[in-house]
Amino acid sequence: MLIVLLGPPGAGKGTQAERIVNDHNLAYISTGDILRTAVKEDTPLGSKAREYMDQGQLVPDHLVVEIVRERLQEPDCSKGALLDGFPRTVDQAIFLDQMLPDISQKVDQVLLINVDEEELVERLTGRRVCSDCGANYHVKYNPPAVRNVCDQCGGDLYQRDDDSLETVKERLEVYKKQTEPLVKFYQDKGIISYIDGNKNIGEVFDQINSALNSL
Ligand code: ADP
Ligand code: AMP
Repeated sequence: MLIVLLGPPGAGKGTQAERIVNDHNLAYISTGDILRTAVKEDTPLGSKAREYMDQGQLVPDHLVVEIVRERLQEPDCSKGALLDGFPRTVDQAIFLDQMLPDISQKVDQVLLINVDEEELVERLTGRRVCSDCGANYHVKYNPPAVRNVCDQCGGDLYQRDDDSLETVKERLEVYKKQTEPLVKFYQDKGIISYIDGNKNIGEVFDQINSALNSL
């Protein structure tokens, strides 16, 4: 089973992904996380990707497609996977469709999480992430028990460089121009489930579970 999480930055994809992979026993693939690790470790991929990420732009398709192709070959993906933040362009979606038969998979369902724009800005600028395990928090909506300390592993929380107000606005524009066309692409295939992401974290998860259980 292969599930794609689609939606603007800040819609809650990472937050829901953590819960979905636990409940549905899927491998987790977040291209954003993989790219951030590459930047942190200053690998050749990281040095190519950094500039785009800092500016809120998409990393070129050929780099991202290779990451996913390699990741999908790993053994844990044989049980199925949840893709978060990929595909992000129609070309990436076409590449994905071409690589999936090699591993006997297809995209089974796309969960489209939509959230009002004002709320997206609020969520992204208030987001805090654990520097050790990557868990997501929000200063107001989902704070840790102890300020700036991860509930799950005790790691330090930080604010992503691209969560500044200026870069957030750019990322939302990039989403509209380059990623939103994917909605029609998957609508035409009849595999989209619409999730109202404006609700609280638990209510969003309930909608996702209903969508997945109706597969
Ligand atoms: P994405 O992966 O789509 O960019 P995240 O899952 O990182 O989004 O969520 C963005 C921010 O919004 C995080 O700080 C997260 O804690 C918070 N958040 C996620 N879902 C909700 C929700 N339903 N209500 C309020 N805040 C949320
Ligand atoms: P995310 O963690 O999903 O918000 O992604 C953070 C950043 O990583 C994006 O703003 C892009 O610069 C880059 N990125 C992540 N996934 C992709 C993708 N599928 N295609 C291009 N760039 C990506």
